[in-house]
Amino acid sequence: MGNLSAMRRGFWNGSRKGVRWLREFVLRQFDPQSCLACVGLIVLVGCFTLVIAPDPDFEERSFPPSLLPAVVIDAGHGGLDEGARSRGVQEKTLTLEVALRLERILNGRGFPTIQTRTEDVYVSLAERAEIANRVKGPAVFVSIHFNQDGDRSTAGIETFYADTKAPPANDWTWVGLFSRSEPLDRGEDLAAEVQYAVISKTGARDRGIRARHLYVTRHTRIPAVLIEGGFITNTMESHLLNEDDYSNTLAEGIADGIGSWWRAQHKTTPLPLAQKSFFR
Ligand SMILES: [Zn+2]
Repeated sequence: MGNLSAMRRGFWNGSRKGVRWLREFVLRQFDPQSCLACVGLIVLVGCFTLVIAPDPDFEERSFPPSLLPAVVIDAGHGGLDEGARSRGVQEKTLTLEVALRLERILNGRGFPTIQTRTEDVYVSLAERAEIANRVKGPAVFVSIHFNQDGDRSTAGIETFYADTKAPPANDWTWVGLFSRSEPLDRGEDLAAEVQYAVISKTGARDRGIRARHLYVTRHTRIPAVLIEGGFITNTMESHLLNEDDYSNTLAEGIADGIGSWWRAQHKTTPLPLAQKSFFR
């Protein structure tokens, strides 16, 4: 008993001494100004951590292992945003029609797919790019649009790819400063393959491929293309686009192009690229 209380007393005395020593040590070592600097540094490091740490709400889309890339299919416009319109034909309706057909064809060929919209709803350009950027693993982005022109004789199909890719959001943090990431694929080869295949399939006028500053191709980190699948202001093309057969042929052409591009990525000999400007 006596031994125990002596031990307790000793322990408390020791603890008090320890605390006193620690307090004096801290006061000796740090004046209030350097403490303030210390707190500032801790807050700064905390801020960096918040910027770098992944957003817990940011869910990534992943697919079962596949030998083929996922295809993000983007039906242009939708909802209040009708896109081009000519003599009762609405671009937003045609894009969705081709997108749904493309999905069926790609799924039939074993490609996993994601649609940015499956019905007549408005989806912002930022949301479309974000859907593509959430996909885990190899993937491509294909945006479907139709064209219009004041001159009704203007016709043909053209495919765009990104002139530059927007830098990732965390590029300005120290992670971005110290890790030089590989330049992103701007989608030029994908555009060439899709254009070549679509023209071969439909026999439409070839308006070629072009690099352009477009939001969805620029803000998607995966290879991305935007296809303008014909002019709804052109009587002939508008008539064709309203036919199921033609929409299907167009979708088959896009799927063929994606397939050719993917095969070319895994071969040493490149496939022939579409000619930049070729009129029939
Ligand atoms: Zn459009």
